[in-house]
Amino acid sequence: DKKMSLTVKVLLGMSLGIVLGLAINLLGLADEGSFIRVYVIDGLFYVVGAMFVNALKMLVVPLVFFSLLVGVCGIGDIAELGRVGGKAFGLYIMTTAIAIAMAIALAASTGIGEGMDQETDASFQAPEATPIAEVFIGIIPTNPVQSMAAGDMLPLIFWTIILGICILKLGSEGARVIRAAEVGNDVMMKMVNIVMAVAPYAVFALIAKSMADLGIELLLQLLGYVAVLVGALMLHLFVTLMIVLKVFSGLSPLIFLKKIRNVQVFGFSTASSNATIPVTLRTVVDRMGVNNSVGSFTVPFGATINMDGTAIMQGVVTVFVANVYGIDLGLTGYLTVILMAVLASIGTAGVPGVGLVMLSMVFSQVGLPIEGIGLIIGVDRLMDMIRTAVNVSGDAVVSTIVAKSEGELDLSIYNDPQAGLVST
Ligand code: ASP
Repeated sequence: DKKMSLTVKVLLGMSLGIVLGLAINLLGLADEGSFIRVYVIDGLFYVVGAMFVNALKMLVVPLVFFSLLVGVCGIGDIAELGRVGGKAFGLYIMTTAIAIAMAIALAASTGIGEGMDQETDASFQAPEATPIAEVFIGIIPTNPVQSMAAGDMLPLIFWTIILGICILKLGSEGARVIRAAEVGNDVMMKMVNIVMAVAPYAVFALIAKSMADLGIELLLQLLGYVAVLVGALMLHLFVTLMIVLKVFSGLSPLIFLKKIRNVQVFGFSTASSNATIPVTLRTVVDRMGVNNSVGSFTVPFGATINMDGTAIMQGVVTVFVANVYGIDLGLTGYLTVILMAVLASIGTAGVPGVGLVMLSMVFSQVGLPIEGIGLIIGVDRLMDMIRTAVNVSGDAVVSTIVAKSEGELDLSIYNDPQAGLVST
């Protein structure tokens, strides 16, 4: 009697969630005030889903802290650390830039938004975006405890790396701290397992709720935008990223796509790269064979700075809104959009809806009307879910490439279809 693997169960939870949520939606059972709306969708599903997202977030800071500390001490060599950081940064920026350039080209060639009326959701308020200078300054925490409490990844990563280097400098005295960090890491992995055990049910609840909440009419109204955006996201996921993986690492994209599904489902159902960190980290280490010393750094780093899917959305929305308002941005305008979107992705955390913050930054830079964002806001939750799945896939692709190039990838794990499969 073979037990079902967690991946299979999670996929099952997702499929059932989609079917049930859509059925509830299409049958009109989710209408305001109905029993199902109040007790099931906004009751049971909402509570179970939100509790699970909390549980994932509760893992992130201590998990990143311990695994990165163990990782830094495991590399032990500052030059290698610098190389891993440099390669990851370069690849993250490169894939994001390719993503948005492709998205702009694709969207521009379809002419989406031309001749649409400018009816926007007037209630849209542009959120405040952090200026890019502050982002760089903020990498160094004034108070590491505060950064951890706030869950700010970049200062947490920075401080943990410095801490690891200092522990190494202590020599044999430091070895005891390293041992303690290893135990801390093992403890956190146990906690990840506990949370994962309920994942199939939680994923079901999260997805059933988002499907029941979908404004299907809105989706149909914005069909052009949605189709171009989803098309660009899929192109990036299945073609660009896989070519990048093949070219830079020589590894099989098919194996990668099979093993990454779990991570994508978590990104999709939580719409948060940050909340997905425990799953991404475990998948790249246990299933792809990336050494923890590389993955513990590149995964949280990527969750913060790498947002290919979000960049694609920026590109498509920019073209869409420019067309609706009949504004010609010209080549410089679009180059500015690319630059801004890449910079903006560095400084913003991988949490739900942050793409809209970045978008308002981009819009004000190139002089597009901010209220244009109101045009697409109604379908943004679903788009957020899909682009987050692309974001986390990109994190895993780059982690795998960097590990391979550093000789820190275990090929026997990568090529073993059963590796790291957990059954619950
Ligand atoms: N939700 C996305 C993420 O966490 C960011 C965004 O596009 O809003 O990666």
